[in-house]
Amino acid sequence: MSAALSVLSSAAVVLDGLPVRIDPDEVLRFQGYKKGIDVPTADVLALFGEALALGERLMAPRVVYRAAPVSGQAPELIEAGGERLSIPEIGRLWGRLGHVGAGICTVGRPIEDRVRRLFDARELPLAVMLDSVGSAAAESLAEHINDLLCQAALADGLRVTNRISPGYAGWDTAEQRALFRLCPGGPIGVTLNEACFMTPIKTITFLVGIGPEARVDHYFTQCRRCWMPDCAYRRAPIAVAPR
Ligand code: SF4
Repeated sequence: MSAALSVLSSAAVVLDGLPVRIDPDEVLRFQGYKKGIDVPTADVLALFGEALALGERLMAPRVVYRAAPVSGQAPELIEAGGERLSIPEIGRLWGRLGHVGAGICTVGRPIEDRVRRLFDARELPLAVMLDSVGSAAAESLAEHINDLLCQAALADGLRVTNRISPGYAGWDTAEQRALFRLCPGGPIGVTLNEACFMTPIKTITFLVGIGPEARVDHYFTQCRRCWMPDCAYRRAPIAVAPR
């Protein structure tokens, strides 16, 4: 890892070399499979294995993170770092905050470049599966950084909420611009265009709330899928075994 993670850092922190755990169920979900209902065939599982091996060779996970003190809060508003973030029900969900943390996670361009070449070569099943592997890898990276932030904050008596992203749960995608102003993507080579599309594509932005009274587990119990071993503050047993 290139830098230590300071939860309240007002300077951008770049992390690389983070482990990425790709959940087969997550990949298949991106392929339209419903867990416990749709059973993948042996051919599909073999294709997944091929795409996973390729994806693991190609991915270059990087994260940039920066925190900003919260200057104002309302039921659907957070003011921080000179930005006004309009997020449905955020006051009820996160409670009183001291800071927000904004971050950008990417698995880099090589996966999407290979997906494009596979499509050009009409190797469609592998192209689609590798694309799903890339999406699952970006999700995994975002979950892992959420865990790292949680653990780093606990040592200082702070709590970190589950992450949220513009474009989900009613938070306007256009606020991606505000998130990029809070935490620019330049240090890890991520850009945002006028239509709020990010490059590389396999990139996820996130916002977390931070503070001693921040409400955690607002939409699922974070500890159930957290990788952190021997966490003294664990609130629930792990539900997904680490790879
Ligand atoms: S086990 Fe729970 S409390 Fe501990 S770092 Fe993970 S999410 Fe945070």
